Amino acid sequence: MTKIAMKVPLVEMDGDEMTRIIWKMIKDILITPYVELKTEYYDLGLKTRDESDDQITIDSAEAIKKYGVGVKCATITPNADRIKEYNLKKMWKSPNGTIRAILDGTVFRAPITIDSIKPLIPTWKKPIIIARHAYGDVYKNVEYRVENSGKAELVYTSENGEETRTIIHNFKGKGIIQGIHNIDESIQSFAEACFTYALDKKVSLWFSTKDTISKTYDSVFKEIFWKTYERDFKEKFAEAGIDYYYTLIDDAVARVVRSEGGMLWACKNYDGDVMSDMVATAFGSLAMMTSVLVSSKGYYEYEAAHGTVQRHYYRHLKGEATSTNSMATIFAWTGALKKRGELDGLSDLVDFADKLEAASIKTIENGVMTKDLLQISMLSKKEAVGTEDFLKAIKIRLDEMM
Ligand code: NAP
Ligand code: MG
Repeated sequence: MTKIAMKVPLVEMDGDEMTRIIWKMIKDILITPYVELKTEYYDLGLKTRDESDDQITIDSAEAIKKYGVGVKCATITPNADRIKEYNLKKMWKSPNGTIRAILDGTVFRAPITIDSIKPLIPTWKKPIIIARHAYGDVYKNVEYRVENSGKAELVYTSENGEETRTIIHNFKGKGIIQGIHNIDESIQSFAEACFTYALDKKVSLWFSTKDTISKTYDSVFKEIFWKTYERDFKEKFAEAGIDYYYTLIDDAVARVVRSEGGMLWACKNYDGDVMSDMVATAFGSLAMMTSVLVSSKGYYEYEAAHGTVQRHYYRHLKGEATSTNSMATIFAWTGALKKRGELDGLSDLVDFADKLEAASIKTIENGVMTKDLLQISMLSKKEAVGTEDFLKAIKIRLDEMM
């Protein structure tokens, strides 16, 4: 069999722990036997990030700007424990945060749905896609530990030197302060990305903030979304038979849980982080949640929504058997290959990615799955297999389709 050719390389960003193990297995078992894989490789494993003073993360994001499409493995975001574990020079920032800030995109997360796996919320009939704003707020914060009594102020100095001051708090003792920001341009492109994606997928768009409490900050989000809708999307939405709906974040949570799903839910950065884990879990497993960062300039970065599955990795290191679900990481690869195929006019590459997705879903529908899915699959005949055996089971079905 001749392998499927590629024209432009994918930006490949390797990562950490169990997902790094899975990464290589997916390539070896499910991709390189079929595709003449062209990638520009960046090792975002924690050790290499540390050695390069995190320059490698910046370089990989710049490469996505150059080539347009990237695929990323989960990576460790260092905390105090990791500094000791990896003997790090410093507590490097989240690679995802760094990449998101450089590409200034919107993250869309959608569950991989399987007929034989019913969501924990019985009313949910259709997937819920979460759009997470990928710039600013607490992910680009400045924090300060107040050690003694004193006055904290918010000071803005304009270009011509004029100062505007607002008192944050008069501290009577120890405390904490956090400064966050966002920019209209980024919120605007977030809004446009969400309306465009909703139209593309023919699903209604919900947007939520806390503008009753955050009367300036969150109100700007609400206003930009509303103006964008009124100006550019109202008619198109009506034609497509979909709606735009704004509500408060707490009301949105209640309504989403009672809904039948099938909407795109746009969230601010932090809300999206939290809610996407809630939605993923309720749909079955964090391991079934896919994620794509779409920038307004047309760059795409695909990844799994879950982390590096540390506990499984330590078991793997001890030589114990693991049953780690590779679905979201496989779908990161298929998403990236498909996009590359669309951009470069390679229909056989698109077709291959579709088949790999279908073979993966079919494997689970046939009752072969990893441990995390065993309890939630409704099939009467089912078995849990190990990490590598799951990929081999997919390969058998993929070979039948090819
Ligand atoms: P995690 O890696 O997502 O894993 C949390 C738990 O969820 C696992 O222990 C496992 O449960 C289950 N799980 C997640 N993915 C799974 C899969 N593919 N197959 C089977 N089970 C899966 O989150 P974490 O343990 O909080 O974080 C570990 C590291 O990942 C951290 O260093 C964090 O910084 C990093 N992280 C990276 C990203 C990213 O790069 N996008 C995102 C989140 C976290 P059981 O152990 O019960 O089986
Ligand atoms: Mg998260």
